[in-house]
Amino acid sequence: MGQFGAWTADVNLDAIRVPAAALVGGDAGVGRGHATAMRCLAHGRVHIAALCVGLAQRLVDETVDYARTRKQGGRPIGGFQLVQGLIADSVTDTLAARSLVLEAARAYDDGSDRRVAPAAAKYFASEAVGRVADRAVQVHGGAGYMRESAVERFYRDARLFRIYEGTSQIQQVIIAREVLGPAGTGKQA
Ligand SMILES: Cc1cc2nc3c(=O)[nH]c(=O)nc-3n(C[C@H](O)[C@H](O)[C@H](O)COP(=O)(O)OP(=O)(O)OC[C@H]3O[C@@H](n4cnc5c(N)ncnc54)[C@H](O)[C@@H]3O)c2cc1C
Repeated sequence: MGQFGAWTADVNLDAIRVPAAALVGGDAGVGRGHATAMRCLAHGRVHIAALCVGLAQRLVDETVDYARTRKQGGRPIGGFQLVQGLIADSVTDTLAARSLVLEAARAYDDGSDRRVAPAAAKYFASEAVGRVADRAVQVHGGAGYMRESAVERFYRDARLFRIYEGTSQIQQVIIAREVLGPAGTGKQA
């Protein structure tokens, strides 16, 4: 659908033997593999959330430029209050996502939160950029649906952010389970 700048291919692992030296986490039997994988995923989530903020800002810029120059009834569409509402919501989503990413990155770096904040940042920023992309296409009208417009590609690119590095539902599960503790797994507290 999108993100054609990043190639995707199937990888088949068939009758592969992996030497102990290549074990994720390093130490067999100590159980560091899962923790290492989770730490890498949490780091990746902050990274993906930041990507979402960058794309959201570009979408806002494209939207504002278009609303300033596109005219209907002899006046720029940016003068219509309903178009202003779409722009205001996208600016607000972008500001909120940026603040959350910065907070999550701070918490990751100082080690105070490597579970909830990365998941929340990835969850919010990826959902937000989806909304921003949708509004960008809307403000562009029919032109926004055509291959020639930048926002058409961004709309397709943005869709994957809610799916990779853990879907939005998986982020919800991580966030809720972390705050609920044992009760979140259905076990006795
Ligand atoms: C082009 C492309 C590139 C990708 N690159 C990466 C990458 O670099 N890194 C990466 O991590 N991923 C990447 N992914 C995503 C990854 O390949 C999976 O698609 C993703 O992890 C979701 O798994 P799945 O497709 O098997 O969906 P499924 O796990 O089958 O999920 C299907 C639906 O069920 C929901 N679901 C599944 N389990 C639960 C649960 N326990 N609770 C609630 N809901 C649940 C999901 O949210 C989703 O809505 C990429 C995907 C694509 C298409």
